[in-house]
Amino acid sequence: MAGDLAPAALPLTSLPGIGPARSAAFARLGVETVRDLLLFAPRRIEASGERRTVAEARAAVGREVAVAGRLAPPSFFRSGRRRSVLRATIADASGGMGALWFNQPWLREVLRAHAAAGEPVELAGRVVATRAGPALATPRIGTRERPLAPPGSLRPLYPLGAGLGQELVRRAVGEAVARHAAALADPLPAEELAAHALLPLAAAVRAVHLPASPADFAAGRRRLALESVLALQAGLSRAGEGGTARAIALAPGRRAALAAALPFRLTAGQERVLGEVFADLARSQPMRRLLHGEVGSGKTLVAAFAAFAVAAAGGQTAILVPTELLAEQHHLELEPLFGRLGVACGLHTAAQPAAARRALLAALADGTMPVVVGTHALLGAGVCLRRLDLAVIDEQQRFGVAQKRALLEKGRDVHVLLLSATPIPRTLALSLYGEIATSLLAELPPGRGEVTTRVVLPGERAAALSFVAERLAAGERAFWICPRIAAADAREEGAAGENGAEGCAAAEAAHARLAAGPLGAFGVGLVHGRIPAVERAARLRAFRAGAARLLVGTSVLEVGIDVPEATVMVVEGPERFGLAQLHQLRGRVGRGPRPACCLLLAARGDAERLSVLAATRDGFAIAEEDLRRRGMGELGGLRQAGPGGEALDPATDIELVLLARRLVLRHPELARSYAPPTATLPALV
Ligand code: ADP
Ligand code: MG
Repeated sequence: MAGDLAPAALPLTSLPGIGPARSAAFARLGVETVRDLLLFAPRRIEASGERRTVAEARAAVGREVAVAGRLAPPSFFRSGRRRSVLRATIADASGGMGALWFNQPWLREVLRAHAAAGEPVELAGRVVATRAGPALATPRIGTRERPLAPPGSLRPLYPLGAGLGQELVRRAVGEAVARHAAALADPLPAEELAAHALLPLAAAVRAVHLPASPADFAAGRRRLALESVLALQAGLSRAGEGGTARAIALAPGRRAALAAALPFRLTAGQERVLGEVFADLARSQPMRRLLHGEVGSGKTLVAAFAAFAVAAAGGQTAILVPTELLAEQHHLELEPLFGRLGVACGLHTAAQPAAARRALLAALADGTMPVVVGTHALLGAGVCLRRLDLAVIDEQQRFGVAQKRALLEKGRDVHVLLLSATPIPRTLALSLYGEIATSLLAELPPGRGEVTTRVVLPGERAAALSFVAERLAAGERAFWICPRIAAADAREEGAAGENGAEGCAAAEAAHARLAAGPLGAFGVGLVHGRIPAVERAARLRAFRAGAARLLVGTSVLEVGIDVPEATVMVVEGPERFGLAQLHQLRGRVGRGPRPACCLLLAARGDAERLSVLAATRDGFAIAEEDLRRRGMGELGGLRQAGPGGEALDPATDIELVLLARRLVLRHPELARSYAPPTATLPALV
C-alpha cells in the first residue's frame, strides 16, 4: 500500500480526491510529489473567528466570525461562462444575514440540501459589506457530521494557483499529513536538530499544517525554510565535483599581444583577477567563478582575456548579456579588439537581420566563430555551439537559474564566469554561491572623474535643470532616467497605489517635456525597451556623437552603457529604485576624466534613504544597506530556489542560509539526501 513508499516517490494522484487536473494545478506551484505537498508551507496562519450571533456578526464587517443557524434555499446567478455567485441567508434567533460563494456552482446542491434538511449549520468566514448589507464572504460550512475547527483555532493559508482553492489545498494537505507525515525521513542527524533547536521534519510538517500555536507554526516554518535552503546548499557543495572541462592556458606571447592591442594598461586589480581566472581555466574541473566588483571597474575586459584564451585553444565562448544595448556595446568593443588578433566575434540578438543570423548560427554550429556576444536570443533551441568551453554571464543577477542552465546545456563541462556589477556582500556570496569562487574588482581604472551625488528636493528642481543646461552647453552629455516608459504602464501593472499613474515619472512624457523646454536646443533622445533595437542603437550613437546631448530613458540604461562624455545622471522617481540599482545608474557617468554628478529628484519622504548614496560610493556598503532595508530575497535571487523558497522570510534568510551551509560542510552525506537533477544549477544563481 501507498504508506509503505517514501512520500518523495508518491505522485499526488495517490491521494484521494486528486486527479490529473488537480495534480497539474499543484505541479504549477512546484508541488509534484506527496513529499512536496507535505513541505508546501502555508504563507501564514489565521485564527478562525469567534462564535457570534448573526446580529453581532452583522456589526463585525472586516472580521472573521463563525455563526450558527438555519439556511434558506440559495439563489444562483451566472455572470459569465466561469463566473457565478451563490447567495443564501443564514438566520438564528437574533436575525439573518447573507452569505456569498463565488464561482463554486457545485455548492448549489449542497446548500439546497442543507436548507431542505432544516438542520442547523455553521458558517465561518470574513464579514464584508455588500449592497444588500453585511454578508459572509465564501464562508466555510460546518455540519453536525463535519464540524468546523473550534473558534479561535489556527488555520493555515496557502499560496494558491489557478484551479486550487484554499479548502482544496487544505484537504489535500490534511490527507497527506494523516497518511504520510510519519514516513517522512529526516536527512538531518538528531544531534544537529537538538543543537539548533530544530523540529524533526515530520513534526515541522505537522506544526505548519496543523499548528497548535503561533510559536509552533513559526518553529515549523523555520525548519521547512531550512529544508529548502539545505537542498540548495547540498547542490552547491556537489557542484564542484567531477567534470572534465578543457584545460586552457594562454601562451604568454598571445596574452601580451592582446594587452598591447588595448588603448590602456590593465589595472592591478584586473591583473590579479585575471590570474585567478587563468588558474581556474588551466584545470580540467570546470571553472565556477563569480567576478563581482564596482561599476566601471573593467570586468568585461577580464572576460575578454578569458574568451581570447579559449579561442586560442580552439574552443568557443558565449557571452550572455541582459539587454540588446549592452550586447551591441560589448560587441562594438570586442570585435575590433579581437579582430586585430585574428579572432572573430559575432553578435546574436533577436533584432538581427535574418541573413546575418543564419550565417552566424552556421559559424557557431561548425565552430568557426569562436566568440559570440548575445542576449537571451542565445538561449534559443536554434543556437548550437560546436565546442562551447566558456560561458560568461554578464550582469548575472539579471538571469534566472533556468536561463543559466539553458546556456550551459549548449556544451559539456563548460567553464563559467559570472559577472556582477551589483556588489554582493561577502556573507551573501558565500551562502548563496557556496563553493563558487569569488573574485573582487574594487578599484576603478585611473583617470576617472569624481562623481558627486545630490539629493534634489522638489523645491530645488529648477536649479538642477539649469545645472544640467550648463553641462550640456559645455559639450558634455546627460542621462535622464525615469522608472517607466509611459504613464499607462502603472495602470497596466495595477501598481497605482499612493503613487498613481500620474505620479510616476514616465520616460515618454519626460522626453516630450524636456524636448519642448530650454534643454531641447541640445538635442533630446529617448531610449527604452519598446523602441526597436536598430533604432535604439542609432539613438545611442547620436548620443555618443553629441547630436543629442540629453538622453531620456528607462533603466535599460542601467547596465553597461559606456559613454565617457556623459557627466550628468538625473534620476526621476528614485523612490522606485533600490539603492543598489541607483548605484548602478550613477555608474553610467564619471567614466571620463571630467567630474560628474548624479542628481536624484527625490520625493520628500525618500531623502533619508537616498542620503546613503550621497554619503558613499562604496558599492558594498550600499548593497549591505539595500540588504538591510529590503531583505535578501530581491538582492540574492534566492527566491528562484524553487518550491519552498516561498517559505523564506527575508529577516531570517541569512541566519538559515549560514546554518544550512555549516550543516552541509559538516555532513557531506547530506549532499546525497537531496534530489540531484536541478540542484547543481542553483550554484549559478
Ligand atoms: P564594468 O566592470 O562595469 O562592466 P566595463 O568593463 O564596462 O565596466 O569597463 C568600463 C570602461 O572602462 C570601459 O570603457 C573599458 O574600456 C574601460 N576600462 C577597462 N579597463 C580599463 C583600464 N585598465 N584602464 C582604463 N580603462 C579601462
Ligand atoms: Mg559590465
